[in-house]
Amino acid sequence: MFLWLTYNFLFFLLLVGLIMQVQQYAIEVACPRCGIEKTIHVPETLFAEKKFGHIKIQVPKGAVCQDHIFIVFLDVKGRVIGYETVDLLIKTTAEKKIHEEIDIEDKTTKLERFIDDIGFNCLAGLIHSKLFNYPLYLIINKEFKVNLDVINTMLDEIMPEAYKNRRTLKIIEFNNKIYPTATYFYALVKNQKRSAFLMNPSKLIVQKPWKTGLELEQSIINSALKKQDQDEQLKFLTFFLTKFLEDVDKTISILETTKKISKKELVKNLKEKSPLSTVTKTLVDFIKEFIHRRRSPEIAQKIQD
Ligand SMILES: [Zn+2]
Repeated sequence: MFLWLTYNFLFFLLLVGLIMQVQQYAIEVACPRCGIEKTIHVPETLFAEKKFGHIKIQVPKGAVCQDHIFIVFLDVKGRVIGYETVDLLIKTTAEKKIHEEIDIEDKTTKLERFIDDIGFNCLAGLIHSKLFNYPLYLIINKEFKVNLDVINTMLDEIMPEAYKNRRTLKIIEFNNKIYPTATYFYALVKNQKRSAFLMNPSKLIVQKPWKTGLELEQSIINSALKKQDQDEQLKFLTFFLTKFLEDVDKTISILETTKKISKKELVKNLKEKSPLSTVTKTLVDFIKEFIHRRRSPEIAQKIQD
């Protein structure tokens, strides 16, 4: 009996030892190019020697998404503070010069460059904020220079007519001499602006004030990126957003004659109205949020789980 206990105890210690050895932080990471999210595990020892500053981790292809390599920046407590994209096509300076001189047409599209600048999920979040009427802010420190006009003009180009210029991205500046860390400052801003979408210039969503995710916008951006005629990608974004607004109108017309309806039933009804539509329960969540934010909370309430 005693021996048995001892063995069990030893086994327990061995297990604890094994766990201690490989103690890791589980960190939720999103690819800045395509938005795919995954938890990666980073050994705690990496943070042990770091007391301030940040930690840089290169995420290889296949670790988070299948297509991209990127860098994630973590603070000393293992919180994501930003991303950087890595170009696979590394050109030498000489090659770049030739490239510029002969003026070879740049193969990346306007939309791809925009995603590269602000991040896939941040773009999805900005579109969501404008469409669903949330205030939107970019948090930067004093040294950081961002051309807000470029971002706002681009967003206006994407948004359907009725949603241009309503909300624009504004800047919140933080003084890194007063506030010890960016994450500390973010916590203060989040507390003050609970209903705002917050992002930083390192492609990180700092706060997403809504419960629905970003699936609608992500799928719209991905569909636009698939379009062959690359100059048309932005127009396709607008086109898909307009289609969403049409689904909203169809839903409202259904709701006018019903007291309440389940999401499942609504999907069925919408499919009957337009047989080619690809309405899902997730899309219904977005439609409900839109009606709640933009039209009438009472009508939105008619949609039930
Ligand atoms: Zn990716």
